[in-house]
Amino acid sequence: MPKEALLYRVVDAEKKLVECLACPRRCNVVEGKCGFCGIRWNIDGKLYLVSHGLAIAVAIDPIEKKPLYHFNPGSMVLSIATTGCNWACTFCQNWDISQRRVIAGWKLDPEVVVKLAEAYGAHGITYTYNEPIVFIEYAYDIGVIAKKHGLFNTMVTNGYMSDEAIDLVAKFMDAATVDLKGHGDPEFARKLSSVPDTEPVFQAMVELKRKGVFIEVTDLVVPKYGDSIEKARKLARWIVENLGPETPLHFLRFHPDYKLLNVPPTPVEVLERHAEVAKEEGLHYVYIGNVPGHKLENTYCPNCGKVVVGRIGFDIVEWKLDNEMRCQYCGYRVNIVGKLYPTYKLSRFVYLPLDAFTEFVHVPEHKVREFVVKSIRSS
Ligand code: SF4
Ligand code: SF4
Repeated sequence: MPKEALLYRVVDAEKKLVECLACPRRCNVVEGKCGFCGIRWNIDGKLYLVSHGLAIAVAIDPIEKKPLYHFNPGSMVLSIATTGCNWACTFCQNWDISQRRVIAGWKLDPEVVVKLAEAYGAHGITYTYNEPIVFIEYAYDIGVIAKKHGLFNTMVTNGYMSDEAIDLVAKFMDAATVDLKGHGDPEFARKLSSVPDTEPVFQAMVELKRKGVFIEVTDLVVPKYGDSIEKARKLARWIVENLGPETPLHFLRFHPDYKLLNVPPTPVEVLERHAEVAKEEGLHYVYIGNVPGHKLENTYCPNCGKVVVGRIGFDIVEWKLDNEMRCQYCGYRVNIVGKLYPTYKLSRFVYLPLDAFTEFVHVPEHKVREFVVKSIRSS
């Protein structure tokens, strides 16, 4: 239920003006209003995460779906999201939840989320579908309990986070998929995602890695707007120099969605060319995503070139590494963190019957104040 945010400061107590510190937008939020993301509200001069404890989407699925190919492969994660986002991508596949500006979701306190994960066989929690930074206090409360129960935490993020958010994330997050779009190009982000600048995303990747969060990078290749080979090369070079050549990079195929319906899916040859230049720049693990059955779903040993992890879609179909993640052919140590979970052999999509034990809450804009005040009184 609504909780006072950790990441904000009071700008003017008399005027009840606050500044949200969660992402680089640093919204100044006046009393009775919310920031850009739609879920962080100023009520009586305090900033509240109104969707704390309200999950709009919950599912159990394979970790490879995030995609995380190099972190605890074969494991199952409970994926969770709230409404709202700090970006407004015109191609968002989850626009129905990310761009929703009402507070809505299944009532799920952090303890219950962890219990659900355990009851349904998940090994970790993933904060995903919308941008987790906008609900970071909810994620943090879940994540701390999850860790105590031996579960790991991962996030799928656009990387647009403040230094304060990075510090909080580093306290409980084990791994992150940083989702670039159009090679992280600032012009692309301005035009298609309403984001002033992407420099904070690159800084966040460096900082998260420095603070011990395992990083995989994805890049959505959008025909016409974000499919430049030279920009892909520049991105690959940046990753090699700043995150290291062992960082996995996934080029993702675009599919028309939301407001970008007039752009066709990315041709597979364009993705293959992207992968080629990324390898030329020195990256060891380059993948193509959203093309099930493509040979670049596999992990190839950087030393001997043999397939060491074979994949089809989200399934692992071949495993040629020992327990220390060394190639069984040549002994090269592949950069995979954690272990292979035996659940890789199972179907890892699990349906969660939320309506059987919790209620769906919907709070229209004009009721937010009442909802916050009532929740605080009863807590
Ligand atoms: S998290 Fe939301 S309210 Fe906070 S600065 Fe970012 S967009 Fe604004
Ligand atoms: S950052 Fe992700 S969730 Fe947010 S609008 Fe863009 S694609 Fe959608």
